[in-house]
Amino acid sequence: MDIHSIQLDQLKKWLEDHGEKAFRAAQIFDWLYKSLVDSWDEMSNLNKALRTRLVEEFSLRSLTLVGTEESSDGQTVKYLWKLHDDKLVESVLILAPGRQTVCVSSQVGCPARCAFCASGKEGLIRSLSAAEIFEQVYRIHQILSKQGQRVSNVVFMGMGEPLANYDNVVHAIKLLCDPLRLHMSERRITVSTVGIVEGIKQLAQEDMKVNLVLSLHAPNQHIRKKIIPFARKYDIEDVLSSMIYYAKTTSRDITYEYTLLKGINDSVEHAIELAALVKDHPCTVNLIPYNPVDGLNLKRPEKESIEEFKATLENKGVVVTWRYTKGKDIAAACGQLALKKNQPKLVSLGSC
Ligand code: SAH
Repeated sequence: MDIHSIQLDQLKKWLEDHGEKAFRAAQIFDWLYKSLVDSWDEMSNLNKALRTRLVEEFSLRSLTLVGTEESSDGQTVKYLWKLHDDKLVESVLILAPGRQTVCVSSQVGCPARCAFCASGKEGLIRSLSAAEIFEQVYRIHQILSKQGQRVSNVVFMGMGEPLANYDNVVHAIKLLCDPLRLHMSERRITVSTVGIVEGIKQLAQEDMKVNLVLSLHAPNQHIRKKIIPFARKYDIEDVLSSMIYYAKTTSRDITYEYTLLKGINDSVEHAIELAALVKDHPCTVNLIPYNPVDGLNLKRPEKESIEEFKATLENKGVVVTWRYTKGKDIAAACGQLALKKNQPKLVSLGSC
């Protein structure tokens, strides 16, 4: 059993069933989440026999770190993890003044198969468990704590579609926010989705108010379904209505991500159409110029045309941000480090 997804009460019961005192559970949680120890042996106030039992029953780690890559400015670090079944996933740590953000993966591969994204090239391989998701943050948190820092923000923008692994993602968020564990604020957690309508509505009903990002990428259904095969299932209007429902129900602002692809969704006409589509939404549109992925015949628009696209939206009253892509030299996007290990070819930059 994985120790990170167990409830305190479950652990108390297990201890009592094994002739131990229930208060040991709180001690174990303190070792894990306050002292951030790496091994059972470091839990020095537990007797040896109990530690041996714990080793036999619970796994402390479901991820093995098999590689890291750091950008030349040291501000972005990519972690490649091996899972128990030898599958690979990755997380990215993005450092900014006062902010240590971990971009986590929710699945191995991705069912969305967006035309520009490296993660979905081979489709979905499997979903991650709550512990496998939680542990990506926990392990980086352990590493940062040695430098006197902590993880401040988590974004579900690594490999996978979080709402296609709904239960485990919600469980992982609860573990991250658990006061006995990392005690993160829900406001510092962001879920990015390709737009699964029922998942967005269900998330709105949860007892948690995370930030929600929609990967919109198109000003109409016709272009959207070309870029995102998965989006054929959902009408763009229904997706946007579910986002507004989320914003209203949770009182959180929402973000629409728009990856700019030259000649596909980047014209001034597209900007005008997009502005009309999101008019009156409590949203920010986040423009991401396409980051080339090896083997894909797509292009990033010129800087001038991105600026024109942005200005057109702004003139129509849309709030726009233009995401500066960090970690360019280490291929910091979703899916890319894992792909690089699996295949001999280096896949270049993405988005996290
Ligand atoms: N499946 C979720 C989570 C993936 S998030 C979603 O679709 O939102 C990754 C974000 O990075 C998405 O907005 C995605 O569209 C963007 N992205 C992925 N590859 C990219 C690339 N090569 N260039 C620019 N943006 C990319």
